[in-house]
Amino acid sequence: MRQKIVAGNWKMNNDLNQGLELADEIMKLQSEIPEDVSVIMAPPFIHLADLNRKVQNTRLKISAQNCAAEEKGAFTGEVSASMVRSTGSEYVIIGHSERRAYYHETDDILLKKINLALKNDLYPIVCCGEQLEQRENNQYFKVVQEQLENTIFKLSSEAFSRVILAYEPVWAIGTSKTATPDEGQEMHKFIRKLISDNFSDDAAENTSILYGGSCKPSNSEELFKQPDIDGGLIGGASLKSKDFVELTKTFS
Ligand code: PEP
Repeated sequence: MRQKIVAGNWKMNNDLNQGLELADEIMKLQSEIPEDVSVIMAPPFIHLADLNRKVQNTRLKISAQNCAAEEKGAFTGEVSASMVRSTGSEYVIIGHSERRAYYHETDDILLKKINLALKNDLYPIVCCGEQLEQRENNQYFKVVQEQLENTIFKLSSEAFSRVILAYEPVWAIGTSKTATPDEGQEMHKFIRKLISDNFSDDAAENTSILYGGSCKPSNSEELFKQPDIDGGLIGGASLKSKDFVELTKTFS
């Protein structure tokens, strides 16, 4: 069965001490997190090892926000999937729209990263989503389908079974302009149908598809209520411990 997941993407926020403090605050509230909800925190690379030590023996899991498209070697400034795994992290976000837009990460590059993440025993949280212009021009289904066909639909079924998807309409990220529950559900249902066509009904049924884009406690309940929305990839609201934990309680 697919999991309910709330994953917090801290982006480039919080120095080491601030990150440890935020994790402490979230840990203090963890008894409030429903048992059937998995909670993942994705801090910057510098926090990974310390945060993994901190959350040992708790239900909280740690993700990186990115990994390199190469295995190892002369790639100054890069952090490989195996390095991420060596910190104890179990997840890695791949293909966030900010990586696609600012660092020119193409689908080909993302597929290399996904394969390296899988090879190193990480669960990739793979992001997809259209830009505002593409939504306004009614190209959103086509754009998302292409992103998926160029990346995760090239995996074997076995490899795909470790993938978590995140639909993040770019126009909703950090804008306070959330997709409506109907818009979210429409796209998630479409993605699940594509998974079924490319792999199997079972694969579609078992894949967690998260919504991301200005999701917060005041709007998450309606979104998480949708049959094909299995949780959220959360940016801004993941930086406030109370809001982040509150989000986990808004599944019906
Ligand atoms: C994100 O960056 O993945 C995100 C969803 O950000 P926000 O919640 O701030 O829109």
